[in-house]
Amino acid sequence: MSDLQPARGTHDILPDEMRGHRRVIDTARAVAERYGYDEMATPIFEFSRVFKRTLGDTSDIVTKEMYSFTDKGGDEITLRPENTAGVARCFMSEGLAQNAPVRLFYAGPMFRYERPQKGRLRQFHQIGIENIGTPGALADIEVIATGAHILDALGVRDRTVLELNTLGDGESRDAYRAVLVEYLQTRIGELSGESRERLTRNPLRILDSKDEGDRRVVADAPIFSDYLNEASQAFFAEVREGLDALGIAYAINPRLVRGLDYYSHTAFEFTTEALGAQGAVMAGGRYDGLIGMMGGSPTPGVGWAAGIERLAMLCGDPPPARRPIAVVPVGDAARIPALTLSEGLRRAGFRVDMAAGGNLAKRMKRANKIAAVAAVILGEDELARGSATVRDLQSGTQEEAPLASLADRLARYR
Ligand code: ATP
Ligand code: MG
Repeated sequence: MSDLQPARGTHDILPDEMRGHRRVIDTARAVAERYGYDEMATPIFEFSRVFKRTLGDTSDIVTKEMYSFTDKGGDEITLRPENTAGVARCFMSEGLAQNAPVRLFYAGPMFRYERPQKGRLRQFHQIGIENIGTPGALADIEVIATGAHILDALGVRDRTVLELNTLGDGESRDAYRAVLVEYLQTRIGELSGESRERLTRNPLRILDSKDEGDRRVVADAPIFSDYLNEASQAFFAEVREGLDALGIAYAINPRLVRGLDYYSHTAFEFTTEALGAQGAVMAGGRYDGLIGMMGGSPTPGVGWAAGIERLAMLCGDPPPARRPIAVVPVGDAARIPALTLSEGLRRAGFRVDMAAGGNLAKRMKRANKIAAVAAVILGEDELARGSATVRDLQSGTQEEAPLASLADRLARYR
């Protein structure tokens, strides 16, 4: 029954996969905390204008990918396709400027209407950090270092490459845009329809096009770095110097542009060849134009977002679930004592599964099936003595232990 399937591009995250996601999120949060980041969350939906105004009318996200609807009260609502705009909105509406600079970490679902494929979903999940209020290149370096550190901690860094570019300041971008448009005009016949449209509205995005024909044209385009003014060159030099000092290797990719209009200076992406076509793992940059564009007083910002599904895939097998202790009552008289014992062990911090269905053989079978580390067997004779049998399910050895000191006996299974 297709209406009982999850909607296209979404899927259920069952416990095994969830542990994989948790590992990514928990590792990232713990590493980011060392750099001063505290976790926060913005709503999963916002007024559409939060994204429309910031992502620009010509970005892929706004033109094709947003889940937007009019709610019952007539408000235009969009499920967040990314979280930088939401965090910036929050920075303004919560008056966080008072505390600037702020360092914020988030993890949660994002929604984009895309063609689903491996590593590309309509509901996917991101972790991300935003450092808002810090203008200098040191912040860019630190933001990249935080990302690199997280990839290290996840054990996937050696399968990624850090690609780095600069988009310069506004003056440099204007100068470059002019020569780029001039060049692209000469080869307009070879551009895709989409890129021809971008030519007037957002020509820089053409550099990022995935269309074959566009890519051939772009290959011969003027290079951004030739049009950087001195201040922008100095900024980029400092970013590289800092990365060098930290031993963070990078490859300059002059074609790397962030898809969105509000970025300036640093743009970077950790990419991998291990995931097929979906190579972008973590992407970010400096967005000094964003908050001003949203109507706030101009405030610098820098950050990145990473796809949790893609990171979890890179990490491979998810960590195993914690193995429980099976409490196995033998005979009816042992049922309630087993119940209270289980409860007590849980209060003492153990994961406990009470196997009370069927006969003893069936109960022991269940203990094995759930990969219990040990079984605590409560028989009538033992109960009469105030004790229980503890069987190590790995070695098969067993011993009788007084109920009063059971938690201590079980300590090694905690
Ligand atoms: P792509 O080039 O793969 O479309 P993007 O440039 O649209 O990526 P960003 O908007 O920079 O991606 O988002 C940051 C990260 O979020 C990406 O590097 C990727 O890991 C992840 N991501 C983006 N879109 C999806 C998606 N539809 N499904 C799963 N992960 C995604
Ligand atoms: Mg995309």
